Amino acid sequence: MTETKDLAYWRALAERVPLRTQAYIDGRWADAADGATFDTVNPATGQVIAAVAACGGADVDRAVAAARRAFDQGIWSGLPRSARKAALLKLAALVDTHREELAVLETIDMGKPIADTLGYDIPEAARTYAWYAEAIDKIYDEIAPTAPEVLATITREPLGVVAAVVPWNYPLLMASWKVAPALAAGNSVVLKPAEQSPLTALRLAELAELAGIPAGVFNVVPGLGAVAGQALGLHADVDCVAFTGSTATGKRFLQYAGQSNLKRVWLECGGKSPHIVFDDCPDLDRAARAAAVGIFNNQGEICIAGSRLYVQDGIYDRFMAKLEACAATMQPGDPLDPASAMGAIVDRAQLDRVLSYVHAGREEGARLRLGGERVRTDSGGFYLQPTIFECPSQALKIVREEIFGPVLAVTRFHTEEEAVRMANDSPYGLGSGLWTANLARAHRVSRRLQAGLVWVNCYMDGDVTVPFGGVKQSGSGRDKSLHALDKYTDLKTTWISLA
Ligand code: NAD
Repeated sequence: MTETKDLAYWRALAERVPLRTQAYIDGRWADAADGATFDTVNPATGQVIAAVAACGGADVDRAVAAARRAFDQGIWSGLPRSARKAALLKLAALVDTHREELAVLETIDMGKPIADTLGYDIPEAARTYAWYAEAIDKIYDEIAPTAPEVLATITREPLGVVAAVVPWNYPLLMASWKVAPALAAGNSVVLKPAEQSPLTALRLAELAELAGIPAGVFNVVPGLGAVAGQALGLHADVDCVAFTGSTATGKRFLQYAGQSNLKRVWLECGGKSPHIVFDDCPDLDRAARAAAVGIFNNQGEICIAGSRLYVQDGIYDRFMAKLEACAATMQPGDPLDPASAMGAIVDRAQLDRVLSYVHAGREEGARLRLGGERVRTDSGGFYLQPTIFECPSQALKIVREEIFGPVLAVTRFHTEEEAVRMANDSPYGLGSGLWTANLARAHRVSRRLQAGLVWVNCYMDGDVTVPFGGVKQSGSGRDKSLHALDKYTDLKTTWISLA
């Protein structure tokens, strides 16, 4: 448990945790064909952790060919579902057994607090493998209600080769949301982790091998987005790309598919999620805490972060005082310290990007209520205070654009109608939240919010049983739940004449 293990314990583990830095293709570890590498950096210190293989087109070709071969040979796709279930349950158990080292790898690679990686990211990843393992042998196909002289079956078949391209904010968990259902359904997978955070994906490959997932079925190609990511997007033998990342990159994947083989593309993209507190909020303390955690958890690097907060006038001043008090407790600290509620921003470029939004907020006339400064600079790391702006207009950049950092834009509203209008005034539609004691209003507003996820009297809660994804420019398709299996299977109709 985190509470009983202190900073010294985690620092010592970080020093000795084994690192994998090569690509994992067809059951073997290999450097990039051209020997290229990229540095992965610890955001808490700015120090290089390791040079990792930077896969290029030739490596992606090898990985896709291995995945295709494995699929065609049926060494995984052709197994009884109970056998795939057994291997994935073993993988879930291995992730759980190795949770401390996976948590440390995630924390040093990405900058998020050890309390979060150990308490959430890694156990949720393990649960995801176990859940799809348990699900896959309980799903039946269909028989259509045709005339008696016909038997028409509707069966689900795996697609073939799935490329999973994932971001750096929840590296192992985002990968697992795709890898687990794709493998459970019988596909082969090529995973490309983000260049900021490749270490847990590579460790996952080792664990998958130990779990008995055959060579070629699961491959990991670390590399740069514009090289390895693009090669997967354009590859003629990839059947599906399951992507999580920014909306700009998501749009590229749609273009890659159009330029190549019209592969299926599922997109989990950006967000600018509205979080609404009505003046009949049943519990202002809980709402203030949820609003603070909803934007400052994971340094604000969360696609569903409640980055636009709308507070009704009747409670505005009282609520803001409570919010400020909660936010002030979430100061950034060493990510390896179990007491840290916030860690470091993932890299220098992202820190600069977030700071440019803080600057824009000031320039455009937003009122800075809290934070706004870089801190802990002596560490060499990339830390920013929790930052709250009050916004006089919805036209401000900090209200309209995804910042992906610990910056909250607060707006006061008067009526329900106004709150819904402002909430929906965004190109994104991922998360949303509202606090009210009025049941009719809860239903009414939930229906009207243009979002894939609505939280009522809570924020960011959930588990693997419910779909996760967005509308508008937040993407298409859903991760998690049984619905995620739709992304990795196709329907086949077989019409059999019995005449
Ligand atoms: P990103 O789009 O820069 O990168 C995501 C992945 O795409 C990485 O693996 C990257 O290497 C790859 N990539 C980058 N450029 C590419 C290109 N030209 N061609 C092919 N691949 C390319 O996103 P990021 O900065 O890693 O992550 C932050 C974004 O992810 C935010 O917008 C956030 O909202 C989004 N996100 C969404 C969800 C969701 O479920 N909707 C979850 C987490 C993060």
